[in-house]
Order: sequence, then C-alpha cells, then structure tokens
Amino acid sequence: MTDQEILAAAAEAMTRFRATVSERPVAPQVDFEELLDGFGTTLPLDSSPPSAVLEELMHAADPGIMASVGPRYFGFVVGGALESATAADMLALGWDQMAFNATASPAAMAAEQVAGAWAKELVGIPATASVGFVTGAQEANTVGLAAARHHVLAARGWDVEQGGLQDAPRVRVLVGDERHSTIDRSLRLLGLGTGSTVPVRTDGNGAIDVGHLEEVLAAGDGPTIVCLQLGNVNTGACDDLERSCALAHEHGAWAHVDGAFGLWAAASPTLRHLTRGIEQADSWGCDVHKWLNVPYDGGLVFVSRPDVHIAATSMTASYLVGQGTGGSDLVLNASRRARGFAVWAAIRELGSKGLAELVDRNCALARRFADQLGDAGAEIGNDVMLNQVLAAFGDDATTDAVIDAVQRDGTCWMGGTTWRGRRYMRIAVSNHTTTEADVDRSVEAIVRCWRS
Ligand SMILES: *Cc1c(COP(=O)(O)O)cnc(C)c1O
Repeated sequence: MTDQEILAAAAEAMTRFRATVSERPVAPQVDFEELLDGFGTTLPLDSSPPSAVLEELMHAADPGIMASVGPRYFGFVVGGALESATAADMLALGWDQMAFNATASPAAMAAEQVAGAWAKELVGIPATASVGFVTGAQEANTVGLAAARHHVLAARGWDVEQGGLQDAPRVRVLVGDERHSTIDRSLRLLGLGTGSTVPVRTDGNGAIDVGHLEEVLAAGDGPTIVCLQLGNVNTGACDDLERSCALAHEHGAWAHVDGAFGLWAAASPTLRHLTRGIEQADSWGCDVHKWLNVPYDGGLVFVSRPDVHIAATSMTASYLVGQGTGGSDLVLNASRRARGFAVWAAIRELGSKGLAELVDRNCALARRFADQLGDAGAEIGNDVMLNQVLAAFGDDATTDAVIDAVQRDGTCWMGGTTWRGRRYMRIAVSNHTTTEADVDRSVEAIVRCWRS
C-alpha cells in the first residue's frame, strides 16, 4: 500500500468488516490489557508512513471491535449505520469541512437546512421550528432546556444569558420519574441543578401520569419547565404529549420532549398515534445514531421559537460580524464536523416510506422476541409498544446469569437493567439489517444459555 492509497485501503477494510460482521461473535473475546498493549506502550519518537499507521491500527483494534453495527446487537439503543449515511460521513471527513456557518462551508449548511426540514416533516414538528445538528440527545436536551430556561425567565423579566441564575427567580422543572439520566445532567450543566426537579409519577409502563402532572403543576407557580418523553429507554413508553403539553401551556410552562429514539415513531403511520400532540411541544431532542441508523455521533434539537433558540445558544465575535446566524449558533459547538451530510443521506436513502418500514419492522421484531421468549417461559416485564423488550428468567440472580452467558456466547448481545426493582434482560431492536431469522437465532441462543 502506498501512502496515497491509504483512504481507499481504509474504505476497503471497512467494507470487508461490514460484509462479514454478522458472522463475528458479537462481543469480542479479548483481554483489555492485551488490547492496550496492541496500541503500544511508549510515545513514538519517530514519524511513520501513514500506510503503516493504518495497518497497525487495524491490527490493534480488530480484536476489540464490538459487532454493534451487525444484525444481532440489541444492547442500549444502537442503530446500525446505513450504507449511504456511512459513505456520506466518510466524505464529510475527507472534505474536512468546518461546519460553522455558510461562510465556512456553504454545502454543509445547505445539507443541514434541507435535512432539518425533512426531519421536521417526517415527525410532524412545525416547519417554522429551528433545527440544530448536535452530537446526540444529551446535547439536544441541553440545548432544548437552555431555550426553555431563557424563555420562562424572560417571561419574568429576567435575562438569564446576561444575569445568569445567581439572583434569578427560582425555576421548577417537572420531570417524570422515568426520565432519562441525560435530563439530570443537562439540568446540572445549565445551573438549574437536579434540586430544581419536581418528580411526576409514571404509570406501569413508565409514561407520565397526566393526572399527577396536573396536580404538581397546580401545586406551585413561577417559571416552570415540563420535561416529557417519547420512548422510555427500558420500555419504549411514550408520554401523552397532547394532554401534557396542553396542561403545561395552561400553566405558562415550557414543554420539552426527549425523543431520543421514540421521536421517530412519529414517522410511522401505524405508530404515529403514540406521539399525538407532538406539534404542541416547545422543544424536542432526538438522536440520529439510534433509530435513524446514522453513524455516531449525531442528533437533532428543534425549538418552536427560533428567536429563543438563538438567544440561548448563539455566539458572537468580532471576526463573525456580518455573517448572520449559522449552524453553530444553534448548538454547543463552535467548530464542528459537517453532520448534515449523513442525516441528509439517511433520509434520502430511506424516504418517508422506508423510514416508516424500518420503524415498523423493528417493532414487529421486538414483539417477535417477546412472543417467543414468553412462549419459552420468560416473563416479559413491559408492554411492548415500540422496539424495547424486558425479559426476566426467574429470580434476579438467574436473569443476570443468563445475560452474562448470552454475552459470552457471542450469538447476540443484550444488556441488563433494573425495572421497578427487578432485574431484566433489556432488548432494543434498532438496526435496519436485523431479520426474523436473527431474532429466531438469538432466542435459540438465549434459551440454550438459560437451560444450561
Ligand atoms: C439514548 C437516550 C438519550 C441520550 O442520547 P445520547 O445520544 O446518548 O446522548 C436520552 N434520552 C433517551 C430517552 C435515550 O434513549
């Protein structure tokens, strides 16, 4: 390999990996210390040819690569990157665009603008909302809640961007007791603190109890933010946005929706009813690396009032005067990778029909898991409404032992979780390449591990 051939060689190695990933043991069987040694021990003194670096990297990394892009990885909520989106990200790297604004990269901004408009249309968010291309739902939640913080304090005559929170009116943040932990981290970083949260009860499947939300809203006053969710990370449960947003607005509160993966359910005509009222919210966060099957790391944040979004996150500097608002004004990065190309490519490849089919197919496969594991005697712990399944195999120790054995077996990979005080195997189906045969093969492996 010559140094000029290094990019093609990397692409070829990646192509080979992806073509055979379904036949690898899903979790690598590797000793971490050995893996470290493969990456070297001492700081290199002399330079090396790029091609040698590539070969050394591939050799060092291969034994420790998790086959999470393959069809039988069901851990966390992990999508398998689509071919077009992966190729688009490779181009984004090769073009090495600085996606700051249209002055720095007109193409990057144009792709974001079109992909952002498509995303809004796909899920039913008003076309007038602003869209930021962030790193994932964590950043999306932070930006959405920064906009919320700005708005509820501005309504009380307080400029939080200038005055901070030191002497600001106290903000209360209503959160479901099954919110994702990224919400708490966002609140910490925004200076609101987890102490600002007021918990709202959830129902058996983890969706917010709207009656209790109404009580909690009425029990206090002052600047208020309500955090809602589409797609609980354990159960897939979706909050009733229609009623929750209406209540929030009756009380002058801002409604933020964490739709990390569940937002995409709105793109499916058969599941859209779970997201009814989505257009009523004030801000929304989601991932693209989960259910949209775009490579890491990417997400979207939408804000119904672009002026509030910009007030919360824009930056100015003398060298930017006259350049207008750019993509970086809507996120927490200044210089950043051109994330819009991959999102554009994924939506362009799937089309609205293809995305609906992907979401529906993953949900049908999740129900297949639940049915087959239930038939085999496992206890299904959730109402399977999206792509998440919880399965218990007896007492907690047995369930943990089954999860451990399955992870070591290598046929498939799923993690564990604690739901309502009990241990469960947690199965998330989010990959466009997963088939019924993959589910059947995985169930067979799980049952085999359980029986032994
Ligand atoms: C995954 C997830 C997040 C965090 O998303 P990242 O992309 O990891 O930042 C937030 N909320 C929910 C409901 C999630 O499933």
